[in-house]
Formats: sequence, structure tokens, C-alpha cells
Amino acid sequence: MKIAVLSRNPKLYSTRRLVEAAEVRGHEVRVLDVLRCYMNITSHNPSIHYKGEELKGFDIVIPRIGASVTFYGTAVLRQFEMMNVFPLNESVAISRSRDKLRSTQLLARKGIGLPVTGFANNPDDIEDLLAEVGGAPLVIKLLEGTQGIGVVLAETQKAAESVIQAFMGLKANIMVQEFIKEAGGSDIRCFVIGDKVVAAMKRQGAEGEFRSNLHRGGTATLVRLTPEERSTAIRAARIVGLNVCGVDLLRSNHGPVVMEVNSSPGLQGIEAASKKDIAGLIIDFAEQRLKTITDSKDKSSTRTRGKG
Ligand code: ADP
Repeated sequence: MKIAVLSRNPKLYSTRRLVEAAEVRGHEVRVLDVLRCYMNITSHNPSIHYKGEELKGFDIVIPRIGASVTFYGTAVLRQFEMMNVFPLNESVAISRSRDKLRSTQLLARKGIGLPVTGFANNPDDIEDLLAEVGGAPLVIKLLEGTQGIGVVLAETQKAAESVIQAFMGLKANIMVQEFIKEAGGSDIRCFVIGDKVVAAMKRQGAEGEFRSNLHRGGTATLVRLTPEERSTAIRAARIVGLNVCGVDLLRSNHGPVVMEVNSSPGLQGIEAASKKDIAGLIIDFAEQRLKTITDSKDKSSTRTRGKG
């Protein structure tokens, strides 16, 4: 297979591991800086160019699109899709997952366990909104934050009101969430590939920190999932539409609740905690999917020929 990895930095652990795993399996692989891809959007012959060269002949594209380049990155990925290159994760699913409110609404609609969550636009509605979600302590989140930045714990009503006013004053979109205190500053990252959780780890925030992100100094250990946690993670991935993703759960008194579905989950923490070749599993999955797609195309062209 000829594989394109869309990543801004070939030296990143996850990018390196994907390249390694693809090469070990005999595939040709190229890392492309998504911001250097440019495209010709025409109906009959869409094309992508890279530093003066036309990109051709790719079978699979593996997007590793950072949150800061979602808009441009998903546009490039869509162009690959127009050219019938199989995306490991589809552009539309990545866009869904990047908007915390949109993905929360999609998950709620399908009955997935979630922290009680509220959203409002007008400062006059804050008081009522806070009452709706059960009052302080509360977690306030920027809709497009990542790596724990823009996630604030407001311990009192007054603190919650002033943080919300400040965010609203800056015209930032925020949501307000029930604080799952019993999670004790830890969450569970479930690594989903296809319809399986291939590995899971518990991330514990640094002392005195309620956010468990590894980027914020959290530590990771292997964890055994309950069947309910496992099925919640798989369903959440399917609802958002991602083939490969990290589903973050909190262990609440009312069962597992989904906090986030991440379309570019890092490989370093999960490979270290699980001692598994997750990059290899991703490439294996890509191979299988491509084979299924090619086989079904072959079948339908045989049928068409038969009819003629
Ligand atoms: P990001 O996408 O920026 O990582 P998250 O929504 O995943 O933001 O939140 C970051 C961390 O904050 C989570 O990993 C979790 O440990 C903690 N956290 C988030 N929401 C809640 C909540 N409602 N209750 C308790 N802890 C939370």
C-alpha cells in the first residue's frame, strides 16, 4: 500500500511509530505537512499538490491533524476523499469530534452516559443555567480547547459566574458541566480501533490537579475495563464516526460518562502503559479495511460487467 500520513512534524512519537509500523509491513509511506498541501478543487480531476509536486497513487491517508489546524487539515483530507483515497478517519468525523458541544449532543441523542452539561449564549441566562446543571462545583470548558487548556473547575457559584462572564466577554464559546468529583482527578483513555478497545489506561492528574491530561503532568497506568465501560467506548466511537480514536471516560457514581472522543490520540502514553504495538494494530486495521473496500469494488464491477 502507499500510505500518506498527514502530520506537521515527522519527529513526533506517534508519527514516527506509524511510519515504522507501515515500513515493517512493507508499505510505502510518506509524511506530509498538511499545511503545505494545496489543492485544485474541480469536479472531474481533483488534485493535491505538495511543494510543487502533484500527489498521486495513495491508497490510504492517515490524518494526524492537530486541533490548531482543524479547518485547513480537514479540507485537505476531504480532497483526498474526493480522490478516492481511503481515510483512516473521515474528515466529517474529525470535525464532529473537534466540537465538544456537537459531539456531546450526538452522544446524548444515542443515550451514552455523559456528565450533566449546559450551554448558553446570554450572560442573563447564566444563573438559571447553573441551577439547571446542579450548581457549583462545576467544570467550565472552552468548546474548542485541548490538552486540558480551557478547562476550569469553579468551586463556588460566585467563581463559576465570574469565569463564565469573563469567557463570554471574550466571545468564547463555553459549556458548563457537572463536576465528577468521585473520579478523583483521574480518567480512563480507551484506545479504539474499529469495533474494539485495543488498550486502556488510567490517567491520574498531578497532586492537587483535577485534570488528568498527560500534557498537564498526569501519569498513566494500565487499567481493566468493565464490560459497560468497554461497550460505552465502542459505541461512542461509532456514533462520532471514528475508526481510530481515544475515548475518555470518567468513572462516576452513575456509571461511566464520556468526556471526549479524540480523533488523533497520542500513541506514546498508551504504548508505554499497555506494552502493545498500537501503531502496528492501526496499520493492520487499515490493510483490512482497504482490502474490504477493494474486494467490494471488484465485486460490483464484475456485476456491472456481467449485466452489460
Ligand atoms: P481536553 O480536551 O482539553 O483534554 P477534557 O474535557 O478532556 O479537555 O478535560 C480535561 C481533563 O479535565 C479530563 O481529562 C478530566 O480529568 C478533567 N475533567 C473534565 N471534565 C470533567 C468533569 N466534568 N468532572 C471531573 N473532571 C473533569
